[in-house]
Amino acid sequence: MKTNLEVAYILAYILFSKHNAQITNIEEKGDYFFVDFLSEKKISKLDFVAIEKEILSFCKSKNKLQIEKLDKKCFATNNFVKEKLVENSCNSMVHYDNFFFPYFQTDHEKLDFSLSFFFVLDNVSGVYWKGDAKNVQLQQIAGFAFSTTKELEKFRTELLEKKEIDHRKIGQELELFTFNDLVGKGLPIWLPNGTTIKTQIENRVHEILQKHDYQFVQTPVLGSDNLYKLSGHWQHYRENMFPPIVIDEEKFVLRPMTCPHHMIVYLSKNRSYRDLPFRIAEHAILHRYEPTGSLIGLERVRSMQLVDTHVVTSLEQIASEIKHCYETIKECLDCFHINFYSIDLSLHDPKNKHKFFDNEKMWDLAEKTLEECCQQLNFNFVKKIGEAAFYGPKIDFQIKTTLGHIITISTIQLDFLLPKKFNLLYKDKNGGFSCPILIHGGIIGTFERFLSILLEQTKGILPLWLTPQQVIIIPINDKHLEYCNKVLSALKEQKIRAFVDCSNERIAKKIRNANIKKIPYQIVIGDQEIENDLISYRCYGKTTVNKCKIPALIDLIKNCCK
Ligand code: ZN
Repeated sequence: MKTNLEVAYILAYILFSKHNAQITNIEEKGDYFFVDFLSEKKISKLDFVAIEKEILSFCKSKNKLQIEKLDKKCFATNNFVKEKLVENSCNSMVHYDNFFFPYFQTDHEKLDFSLSFFFVLDNVSGVYWKGDAKNVQLQQIAGFAFSTTKELEKFRTELLEKKEIDHRKIGQELELFTFNDLVGKGLPIWLPNGTTIKTQIENRVHEILQKHDYQFVQTPVLGSDNLYKLSGHWQHYRENMFPPIVIDEEKFVLRPMTCPHHMIVYLSKNRSYRDLPFRIAEHAILHRYEPTGSLIGLERVRSMQLVDTHVVTSLEQIASEIKHCYETIKECLDCFHINFYSIDLSLHDPKNKHKFFDNEKMWDLAEKTLEECCQQLNFNFVKKIGEAAFYGPKIDFQIKTTLGHIITISTIQLDFLLPKKFNLLYKDKNGGFSCPILIHGGIIGTFERFLSILLEQTKGILPLWLTPQQVIIIPINDKHLEYCNKVLSALKEQKIRAFVDCSNERIAKKIRNANIKKIPYQIVIGDQEIENDLISYRCYGKTTVNKCKIPALIDLIKNCCK
């Protein structure tokens, strides 16, 4: 049984009575409890041992916190609590000695101070009163508590496992990406290793798209406000866009999507029915505004790169083009062994006129058509009302991340609206002009999110062809360097990503570092290797040392990459 709140109140009492802190908030959120307080003394993790001892000795004593009827007079000197009491209805408080704190929980979650408590103080950080940076800064201790040690240990193990496979931790160990507030929150910096992985993914997806007859285009990261007013993003998607940059009386926005630019690509010349389906793709850099609090590593960012595709098609071609788009997605994801968790058919909410373009007839046709496509493709799908794009319904392919989040990885969207807004036309078979339909396809989602998924699913042990550094070469001492460089040249000539570790570290440390970086092939060169003109290597995660000639290792690596 969780005992988060009970321990939180005891901790609050200890902070108040022994550390001179003024308690401003006590709450339970998710698996954790939080105690916020104002104190002149800065509490650090080093203080946790002492605080834990104080909590334990209080629990062992006969003294118990009491739950009493709320007496507002007790909080005359605590403005934080006074403010909270005005905002919340509250009948009880927790009391011991001269410590009082209101108890805001509902009746069915009664506190029980007679239980046994097993707890961990997990973290201390700075927070602002009511989460607003304009307000006073407070300290916050987070922790978790249970009534048995067995439950506590189970939770702790799960937590450690989750932390181990968190893409943020793996990304740091493998030196893939970084964030820096000086650049800006939510703006990822891809480091050399990360960029190598990204380029490999990009190349693979590029090949598959070319095979499926997509033509690549390149369009600017900015667009005028008029472009987005015409597309409707200005009216329906503005809260996700960065505000305009105004220069020379012109307004530009950082694009959140490439669709309007791609409409202009179509309009660059006259088209006929023979040109359809017209399939284009772009490795596009996009910017979307996300609130600071919702940014999570690479999973939720403000600057992202996406393989964005658009297919302009006739009405008759919709079903075959959606199938074609699905096959492209499937082939890309199969390369990375990623399977869908669920498929959603995201529909509009007729009541929400702000979020969705207002034309019921159009929605009716688009939603019916897309549902038929889902049935033809034998999708086991769930309808989600209100999850459509503002311009049309979509099929969202969902995966479940190792950390349990359900997120969209790929999407196919049917759009009758944008071609009309941009007045796209094609000469039909009868010599007249018709307006085509647009299919938006997100093939593997953004590179940022895709990498976060890959890292968590593989625990950072990427397939050899994706690994940023495939081989490390370690000289036993400096006199072996020359031979190491000879091995390096031979590997590089065969486009194998390798490097020589010529740092001053000891051999054992170098091997340990190579393991942290999960480098698949670890070569060690000493006198024996040079005398016999061969190499000794170990594979990541294995203890056996193998010996062979350089060409044999090259063949092995090349075969593995296939
Ligand atoms: Zn689009």
